Amino acid sequence: MDDQTKIRRSTRTLVAQASGSHDPVTKAIVQPIHMSATYLRDADNGYRAGYVYGRSDNVSVQQAEGLIAALEDADAALLFGSGMAAATTVLLALDKPTHIVASQVMYWGFRSWLRGIGRYGHSVSFVDTSDLDAVRAAVRPGETGLFWIETPSNPLWTITDIAAVADIAHAAGAILCVDSTVATPIFTKPLSLGADIVMHSATKYLNGHSDVVAGVLATVGGCPLWERIRDMRGQFGSALSPFDSWLLMRGMRTLDVRVRAQAATAAKLASQLVGHPALAAVLYPGLESHVGHKVARRQMVGGFGGMFSIRLKKGEKAAIAVAACVELWNRATSMGGVESLIEHRSSIEGEGSPCPGDLLRLSVGLEDADELYYDLTRALSVAA
Ligand SMILES: *Cc1c(COP(=O)(O)O)cnc(C)c1O
Repeated sequence: MDDQTKIRRSTRTLVAQASGSHDPVTKAIVQPIHMSATYLRDADNGYRAGYVYGRSDNVSVQQAEGLIAALEDADAALLFGSGMAAATTVLLALDKPTHIVASQVMYWGFRSWLRGIGRYGHSVSFVDTSDLDAVRAAVRPGETGLFWIETPSNPLWTITDIAAVADIAHAAGAILCVDSTVATPIFTKPLSLGADIVMHSATKYLNGHSDVVAGVLATVGGCPLWERIRDMRGQFGSALSPFDSWLLMRGMRTLDVRVRAQAATAAKLASQLVGHPALAAVLYPGLESHVGHKVARRQMVGGFGGMFSIRLKKGEKAAIAVAACVELWNRATSMGGVESLIEHRSSIEGEGSPCPGDLLRLSVGLEDADELYYDLTRALSVAA
């Protein structure tokens, strides 16, 4: 047994074996789902097992959190009922009026919520966080308490230098939170690069099967907001359900294999599409032509993710027509599942969106790369 614990576990091994967990009672290699809403008190009135009530305490939730914490080199992780529940809780945990510096290009749902953050007494500056001078210039000494970045960011796949922004944040006495949904823990570990909190929409790559809505936060190094975030989750009842946590754990067992295959196909399709006569641009951080490629190559290890976008020379109508002509790609929002998705993004994004109308966002699944290419290029020529 001692020998076994000395083997260094790669992420691939770690997730495949769900951190080596099994049911201690039956020795089943798949854990049962713990559904109990309440737990027996000891005769002396204590709760020695540490479980009191289901709104805060559940083994199935903790097992999935433990695996994510291991993947992110984190001290702790907390699962929520959605990525938005996770992200908004960080902001709601701020206890005095705070100035926030946030990426201009980011998941539209969170950006539109952040735009209304004034109602909680906070203020926000949206800046191009790929431009470090702009990030420095946005700092308000004594007021800026939180930096929120997304990298690669939706839907232009802008790259922000996590380590550099962490330095700026810490010099200002602020914390850095990174939405790493697109990068996944396989390709980027923001906490190891200096971030204080990493957030994922676990709905996407972590679960990977488009059948769970979930979010997660993970932290390292005694982040001052963490205790309050944990308390709020218990008080609000916003933790993920045991059943969804179990499904997420099942999904995560193939995380490493899935995202590496998805990134390989995305890289292949993106480079094949460069120079296509119907396209004005192919946006993918793995392409040398991408503005953020150099930074991406430094902070994304082993792959550039499974998301890319294309821009149509003939504009918005042509983009919508292409999405209407595909057969294999599914016209749907979301990302990170085993089935490929295509989306005319500006139709869903609200006011102030930096997304151009001629853009289609593609989430590459696990289908055959040549079939995906054929379907897309056929749609490009039919629509033209
Ligand atoms: C989907 C998504 C979110 C929101 O997560 P939900 O689980 O849908 O609430 C946040 N950030 C990114 C990058 C996303 O793709």
